[in-house]
Amino acid sequence: MPETNSIVDIRATVVQIRRISTAVTIITLDCPAIAVTAKPGNFVNVKVNDTTLPLLRRPFSIHNVRGSLIDIMVKSIGPGTTLFCDRAPGSTVMVLGPLGNSFDIAGKEFDTAILLSGGIGTAPMLFLEKTLAAKGKKVINLIGGQSKEDILAGELSNCRFATDDGSAGFRGNVVELLHSELAALKKEGRPKVFACGPNAMLKAVARYCHEQQLAAEVSLESVMGCGIGICYGCSVEVKSPDGGLRTILLCREGPVIDAKLLAV
Ligand SMILES: Cc1cc2nc3c(=O)[nH]c(=O)nc-3n(C[C@H](O)[C@H](O)[C@H](O)COP(=O)(O)OP(=O)(O)OC[C@H]3O[C@@H](n4cnc5c(N)ncnc54)[C@H](O)[C@@H]3O)c2cc1C
Repeated sequence: MPETNSIVDIRATVVQIRRISTAVTIITLDCPAIAVTAKPGNFVNVKVNDTTLPLLRRPFSIHNVRGSLIDIMVKSIGPGTTLFCDRAPGSTVMVLGPLGNSFDIAGKEFDTAILLSGGIGTAPMLFLEKTLAAKGKKVINLIGGQSKEDILAGELSNCRFATDDGSAGFRGNVVELLHSELAALKKEGRPKVFACGPNAMLKAVARYCHEQQLAAEVSLESVMGCGIGICYGCSVEVKSPDGGLRTILLCREGPVIDAKLLAV
């Protein structure tokens, strides 16, 4: 979890808007105070306009950090995301962050990082890949979608794709792709999986990694209000050590959790 005193709420200028598909836009914000302390897996909570509609901020993963700039990859699915993607360069938004915990990449227990993502879950992977590469870790991206239009590989390297309709790469889901690649990946060194995508996909990832005794972390999604543990909007149930279930606030104890904590 980031130091709470490193969290700032700042008015950030929209520097650039790049539409990369019909529904997905990369928004670049000038946020020096957030860029300097951000870690892969962290997110920001953005007030997408200055009116009360929508009232609540919207959470987004940090897609990339470039000096004082942060990139956010946004899929338009409703009013908040559409308003955000329609912001003009030069306009400003309030940005709270960096929030949440981060992927655990410090350990020496793995040599190869398998970055496994589905749909807009690919958003945090570029920042994660760059940080892992700077630490000398080998990285492979396994990216899934319903069809090739859902694959958001962008600047990621060493990518393999899985699509349900077979329009790009492997025909099947991304967990099946992991299964088909795993033996070869294990020969290259000890793997660890870092996953982000729809929660149903993450449960399947957690189940598979549990069966294969693979170290894995998953970045979960939930509807979220404040992003700082006040509203309790992002309560999710995870496994507790006694085998039962316990509730965590995803904005503070997540969004990244050990895959073992997902009820499998
Ligand atoms: C930690 C975190 C990181 C995120 N990172 C990104 C990101 O990098 N890029 C991105 O595009 N989106 C991301 N999201 C999801 C994003 O916050 C939502 O898509 C956004 O809040 C929707 O706002 P809206 O007003 O457009 O749609 P709304 O009208 O609020 O929602 C539209 C529909 O989507 C559902 N929905 C809303 N939020 C979520 C959610 N979090 N999970 C599942 N369903 C939801 C609603 O129930 C509704 O059915 C992230 C969410 C979390 C919790």
